[in-house]
This record gives sequence, C-alpha cells and structure tokens, in this order.
Amino acid sequence: MRRMSSNTGKKKHVPLRRCVACGRSRPKREMIRIVRTPDGNVVIDETGKASGRGAYICPSRSCWEKVLQDPRLLGRTLKTNISLASLELLAAYAERLPSVDVEAAGRSIEKGRSNEDRVVQGNE
Ligand SMILES: [Zn+2]
Repeated sequence: MRRMSSNTGKKKHVPLRRCVACGRSRPKREMIRIVRTPDGNVVIDETGKASGRGAYICPSRSCWEKVLQDPRLLGRTLKTNISLASLELLAAYAERLPSVDVEAAGRSIEKGRSNEDRVVQGNE
C-alpha cells in the first residue's frame, strides 16, 4: 500500500478508530466511544472526552448487538469484565440507534446501482 503524499490536497487528517464488533475503521467522531472509568465502570462516553481506557463501536445497531451477544469483544479492549449493569446500559443505548446498518446503507448509495429492476408504477 502506498501512502499518499501530503502535498496533494489540503485534506485534514481524520483520526480513525476501529470498531470492536466489526473491525472496520471509521472517523473517530462517527464512532461511539465506550470508556472504562477509573473506578471500573463501563459507560458510554458521549462527549468523547472522558478519561479512561476507551473502545469504539459503530453507530450501527448490528455492531451493538454483536457486542451485547459477546461482551468479551468489548471486555478484551477495555481489559475488564463487562458487568451486567454495564450491559444493560449498552443495551438501552443500542435501542436508540437506527436499526438499519449504516454501512450497508452507505454502500448502496456508493454503488449507485441502476433502478432497472424496479417496477415503475402509475405510468399514465
Ligand atoms: Zn462496527
């Protein structure tokens, strides 16, 4: 893989973070940060500024469900066991997320597939 030379274009460097569930890297600000607080709680860090060991999950419910099904994914990154209370917190947060997979939605736009197979209705 060749690195783009820095003098072409003035694009700002976007810090990427890896999702503990799906392993994809995304811009940090698109991710939801989970932090292990100094007193050992695992909480959702909505400001992204809480101190403590952090892990990132996509804002996609499928990723959250994966973590809820296998909390070790998160526990391994945070180097702690995810307590039941923390899991409940995560589950409640996941409920608020859109159920569509953002990754899949983005891909279909990107591909720009033709709508040829779509049946046109109301053709007067
Ligand atoms: Zn993910």
